[in-house]
Amino acid sequence: MEPFCPIVWPEDPTQVNEKNCELCGLYRQGTRMVWGEGNPEAPITVILDNPGAREDREGNSFVCGTRQTLQKAVHEVGLKPEQLYVTYILKRKPVRAYDKEAARQICMQTHLFGQLRQQNPTLILCLGNVAVQSFFQNAEIDVKRLRGSFHDVLGYQTTVSYHPLAVRRRPNLYPLFIEDLTLIADKL
Ligand code: SF4
Repeated sequence: MEPFCPIVWPEDPTQVNEKNCELCGLYRQGTRMVWGEGNPEAPITVILDNPGAREDREGNSFVCGTRQTLQKAVHEVGLKPEQLYVTYILKRKPVRAYDKEAARQICMQTHLFGQLRQQNPTLILCLGNVAVQSFFQNAEIDVKRLRGSFHDVLGYQTTVSYHPLAVRRRPNLYPLFIEDLTLIADKL
């Protein structure tokens, strides 16, 4: 196996007609929209709660902990970076308190659902309880109960796992994360 080296996956630019969205009020917090990253034509779409930073304060790009952990696991299960596209429930990173439920619903309905219709991935991998509860439209469910199999969500074959940042903080989750990524690699 080639040695693993995290890289900045190419950003999928926000389309002109979606740019400058002010619908949920999060724009007031000053973070920019990130539409997604990776290959927009990839068979697997990964859904996270919101984008992490792609640039430091000086504007230099870097690979944050979430991306490093995800990319390491992707490499370990034998998937290629070009087989994945990463996007978010919220297209902006919140930095202060906000109306979570309302913002997630508005952003999903306005952007994510149309984006999925357009890109039509073969499989979806939802990471972390926030993304899972939002995408499955059910606040009672969690990763622990759903992981290990595929579920039909809006007609997409969807599986779930832990948020890469949680995996990074709790190394005992890493083998489970690998199990979940192996499930999706095998299905593909
Ligand atoms: S988080 Fe989503 S809905 Fe809210 S302002 Fe940003 S793009 Fe629009």
